[in-house]
Amino acid sequence: MENQQHMVLLSSPGLGHLIPVIELGKRFVFHHNLKITIIAFTSHTSHAEKLVLKTATSGGFIDIVEIPPPDISSVIDPDAAIVTRLCVMMREGVPAIRDALSNLAGTATVRPSALIVDIFGTEALGVAEELKMRKYVFVASHAWFLSLLIYAPTLDKQVQGQYVDQKEPFQIPGCTPLRPEDVVDPMLDRNDKQYQEYLGFCNGIPKVNDIGDGVLVNTWETLQQKDLESLRNRNLLGGILKAPVYAVGPLVRLPDSEMSQGIEWLTHWLDGQPEESVIYVSFGSGGTMSCEQMTELAWGLELSGQRFIWVLRAPIDAADAAFFTTGSDGRDEGGSKLSKYLPEGFSSRTYNVGVLVSEWGPQVDILTHPSVGGFLSHCGWNSALESITNGVPMIAWPLYAEQRMNATLFVEELGVAVRPRVLPTKKVVDRDEIASVVREIMVVEEDCNKVKKKNPIREGVKAIRRSAVEALSKGGALAQVVATGEE
Ligand code: UDP
Repeated sequence: MENQQHMVLLSSPGLGHLIPVIELGKRFVFHHNLKITIIAFTSHTSHAEKLVLKTATSGGFIDIVEIPPPDISSVIDPDAAIVTRLCVMMREGVPAIRDALSNLAGTATVRPSALIVDIFGTEALGVAEELKMRKYVFVASHAWFLSLLIYAPTLDKQVQGQYVDQKEPFQIPGCTPLRPEDVVDPMLDRNDKQYQEYLGFCNGIPKVNDIGDGVLVNTWETLQQKDLESLRNRNLLGGILKAPVYAVGPLVRLPDSEMSQGIEWLTHWLDGQPEESVIYVSFGSGGTMSCEQMTELAWGLELSGQRFIWVLRAPIDAADAAFFTTGSDGRDEGGSKLSKYLPEGFSSRTYNVGVLVSEWGPQVDILTHPSVGGFLSHCGWNSALESITNGVPMIAWPLYAEQRMNATLFVEELGVAVRPRVLPTKKVVDRDEIASVVREIMVVEEDCNKVKKKNPIREGVKAIRRSAVEALSKGGALAQVVATGEE
């Protein structure tokens, strides 16, 4: 098609990265009629990844160029942290990205004119510069997180000792201060290699000042006005990040019939439950927990007396063990393979009250179903947006990455979540505490006249949902990004 723009989106490994990149691509295609090619590192080892890729390409609207993740076994420790592995993979992957981009530039009917990379992909901006393409960084999370990334190299100079040992919150100009216990994973230990890698990509984002065209962030103006203002104000964070910041969110998935194939039994079960009566429990693409915590969670759900759907994974003493292997066991209807890890008699006692799904659930279908009234979530940004845009309040159960920050944002600033008194990665949350937070968001009290009282969290999430719908109806800032390519 004449004058049609062709943009290339680069996704780093991990479904939590690929899913929002696909959503961004779809928005460009369906709202702005662009041609989109996604370059993605895929491993084909997981059922969940296959599903995500299949749904993205069905209909033929988006092309995906798949690259196998580079072999980094000789470069880093096998047990290196996720951020280290991601940064090394993306660095080692630059030659393959160059080949893919050059190939597209030489063969595509519409020559690609822009490259959008996620935060781990800034090394590839140089390749786009060589090919004379426009260059953007896409932050698949929120503006407060972007502020921390931009300010991290300054904090590195200001703060002595470990961040987690500091007594006072860190002041990020124009933004909510960040408590030491809420720092992102790579800031937990400054002596770990991932901290240096983290500083590397934090320094990589302002590269767009010199050779790039802007930063896209998956939020919207009314949700994070203060942080966005700081990022654009030359006297605040805009003094570091001088490139334009576009609030392009909320980018969220919609239910997809391909994604829900084979789970008709689950929809059928949900159809039979009362409105807003089911709590959905899931820890994103990578979240895992210890055996002890899993036992307490099972007891807590049972004691709460509420209906539930729980996406189960085998227990392990790490919070992010499934990051590179999500859903690799495939679907195990009813979670029967994993029920051996649950308290004795749990499945029969909760028969028909609770549903277990193994490894990977049809999350969007679940959260859009009217019977779902709560989400016990690890606070990944995509999951949270899927919850908020469906008006579902959350129990914040942060595990890794920037999830502690997210939990604080949801509980203290946005009022869309409650959280247990202890931080799940520091201490086991016991069954009574779990039952209590589940009831807090699920049970709607009645006054003496049997009139339902308002639940402030449910009301809060519905207000934010309205602002999300409004942002979506205005079309976000993507139109501006598209327009710069037309100039
Ligand atoms: N997801 C899903 N089924 C699952 C677990 C996760 O469909 O059982 C999807 C979820 O809907 C979201 C993404 O995987 O779109 C997870 O992204 P998020 O940012 O919430 O967390 P991450 O996986 O990056 O920690």
